Order: sequence, then structure tokens, then C-alpha cells
Amino acid sequence: MGTDKSAAIFERAKQLIPGGVNSPVRACRSVGTDPVFISRGEGPFIFDADGNRYLDLIGSWGPLILGHAHPEILAVITETMARGTTFGAPTEIEVTFAETLRKAVPSMEMVRAVSSGTEATMSALRLARGFTGRAKIIKADGGYHGHADCLLVAAGSGAATLGIPGSAGVPEGAAADTIVVPYNDLTTVEQALSHGDVAAVIIEPVAGNMGLVAPAPGYLEGLRALCTKHGTVLIFDEVMTGFRVAFGGAQARYNIKPDLTTIGKIIGGGLPAAAFGGRADIMQKLAPLGPVYQAGTLSGNPLAMAAGIKAMEILARPGTYERLEQVGARLGDGLLAAAKAAGIPAVMNRVGSMLTLFFCDSPVTDYQSAKAADTQRFGSFFRGMRDRGVFLPPSQFEAAFVSLAHTDEHIDQIIAAAKASLAS
Ligand SMILES: *Cc1c(COP(=O)(O)O)cnc(C)c1O
Repeated sequence: MGTDKSAAIFERAKQLIPGGVNSPVRACRSVGTDPVFISRGEGPFIFDADGNRYLDLIGSWGPLILGHAHPEILAVITETMARGTTFGAPTEIEVTFAETLRKAVPSMEMVRAVSSGTEATMSALRLARGFTGRAKIIKADGGYHGHADCLLVAAGSGAATLGIPGSAGVPEGAAADTIVVPYNDLTTVEQALSHGDVAAVIIEPVAGNMGLVAPAPGYLEGLRALCTKHGTVLIFDEVMTGFRVAFGGAQARYNIKPDLTTIGKIIGGGLPAAAFGGRADIMQKLAPLGPVYQAGTLSGNPLAMAAGIKAMEILARPGTYERLEQVGARLGDGLLAAAKAAGIPAVMNRVGSMLTLFFCDSPVTDYQSAKAADTQRFGSFFRGMRDRGVFLPPSQFEAAFVSLAHTDEHIDQIIAAAKASLAS
């Protein structure tokens, strides 16, 4: 397959954009290759600048649960756009967005829209600190919550793959109040909470940024009980899992009610939108009602709200999550069987339509065990799949996503590509 145009664009990109990319993992460095530049998407497919077609298992890192260029999403954006693209004044569509979100995720009693997951988590933490008057926060090793300074500590995927310990440029003070605990371990959380000075526990209720790691039975219940006991705000970071692992997110799937939720990706329907929300008594501390400041010029952008509302409306249709479960299982089972057939040690972690094939032989339950995976092997698997027309997330520590646009036939093509890649 030709890659001349992509390579030429990459050369231009590197002159101006650090590493040639606007978000580091896209550079494909950890899988030992150069990025391909995408020119368009359609359903389950992306096409690069040279016209090569790939079955896409990234879905823009989660948002595109309906597939690329979904006609109903495009139509609502076009229709909304004709009335103007931004006002910096309130619009009814923001209210409809908040109502739609609260209906799906009832713990979000009040909602504020922002433009990225990073903004959502950063704002939720400030709010939790303002509400409790405490400074410390707890996060999981390998948990990623966007790139705010205080959260860029032991932050998995991008940071882990690049081998950056935290990040340069984060002052010690900004990270000093961040306590890092292993995922799926309650004992360390209990110890950290016992001093009564922790404002919030922020957690991915299904971890997706150290590769996919499901919560162990009792883990989320345990976090809920401990936070209640110590007056600590429990924040579920559902930026990835919201509308992904169930319509109402992981909190619906596992039936746990957090105090605050951060959510993004899917709720923008492919445009930049995210939100945070939760208990009304906490949310009322936000400006202009309360003393915690938070703002955004393009927050609640009408195009993003319209696309998000339409995406949530489509996802609410009957059978959607049954189908996502089915298509996720077909892919997960097929990939694992392909590895077994090739005699390659592998573990499949999957929740609904998000999954990771880890190249290791013991269960992956936290970041420590995820790091046992053979990243060299993952790199050659990635390249083998790409050469056979399948685009995987370019890191062993990122989850793959299946969409409603993937048919059983597409999944079978992916599995056939995996068999061939793993055999060679
Ligand atoms: C993607 C992600 C974020 C950051 O969202 P951005 O929109 O990239 O800023 C935060 N938390 C989780 C769990 C994510 O997966």
C-alpha cells in the first residue's frame, strides 16, 4: 500500500507542529512507526491521504460509537450551523443537552458543559476541593484523567507509553497533594482516607487508559462506602465509559452512584464537548451561585450540543447496547482465539464494546500487571494489522473501541487479519 502522500504531509507537519501531531499518542512512536494522515471516514472505515482504507478500531479514541460521518449527526450539525456557530450567551440547546444527560445519568442532578475531558476533570476537582475545603486527592496508578497538572501523576497510556514520569513542567507543589494508589486495591485507599484530609477520589470506573482493566467485584462499592464514611467526594471519570459500557455509563452498569461525574467523548457526537455534574448541593458551589470559579468561551457550543444530543438520542433506541455487547464479544473472542491458535500468550480484557488484547500470560487487574505485557510484540501486531487494513490504537495501553457501524462481517475481517498478523 502506498504511503507517499502521508509521508510528505508528515514531513511538513514536523516543521511546525511538535512531533507532527496535536496529541502525542497519534505519533505512533510506541509502535515503532510514523503516523498516517487521515483524509476522511465513513461508517467503520477511515481512509488515509494515499487512499488506503482501514477498518477503524480507534473511533477517535471513543467518541465515534455510531461510526464515522453518521448521516443523522451530519444533518443536525448542518441544520444548527445555519443559525450561527457560537454566541457566548445562553441558548436553549444547552438546557436540552443538560436535560438529556440527566435523564440518562440521574446522579448528574446539575450539569455544566465544557469543551474537553481535561476541563471536566480539572473543574470537578476544583469544585470538590472548594466544597470540602480539603486539598488532597486520590487517583489510581495508570488512571488517566486528562492533562491538568495535579492529575498528570502516574497517568498511564500516553505518559506511560512515552516513558515520561508524570511530566516535565509540573511543579512539585501541583502534584504534592495527589496520592496515587493501585487500581482495584481498597486497602491503600482506606489508609489514605483515614487522615480526613482528602477532598476527592477520582477514578475511571472501568479503566481504559492502561489498556482496559475492569473493576474487581466489590471495588466500586468499596470506594463508595469509604468516600461516604470519610466525607470525601467520589468522582467517577466517565469521559470514556459514559454512554460506552451502558447508556447510563459504568455507574448504571455496576449500579453505583458517585457524587460527581465527568463525561466527554461520546456526548459530543464527534465534536468537542464534555461535562461535569452531580449532587446539586456540590454543584451549587460553582460560580455564579457559589465561590468556585469555572468558565469557558466556547462552553456549551451549539454545534457540539446538537451533535451530542443527537448521538444520545440515537443511542437510546432499543437494542443498541445489546448490539454493542454482541459485537464486542465477537471481536474479543475472535482476537483471543487468534492469539491462542498462534501459540502466543494473551489476555483479553473487555467490557461491552471496549477491549484490550494484552500480550502476557497472567490476569491484568492494575497498571503493574498491565506493564508485564510484551509491548514489542504489540508493536509488530499493530504494524501487521495496519498493513492488512485494520487500524488499532497505537499502544498496548489504550483500549480499542467497536462501533454500531461495525457489522459481523467487518469483525470477521478483523479477526482474519489478526490470525495472519499473529502467525507471521
Ligand atoms: C480521554 C479522557 C480524558 C481527557 O479527555 P480530553 O477530551 O482528551 O481532554 C479524561 N478522562 C478519561 C477517563 C479519558 O478517557
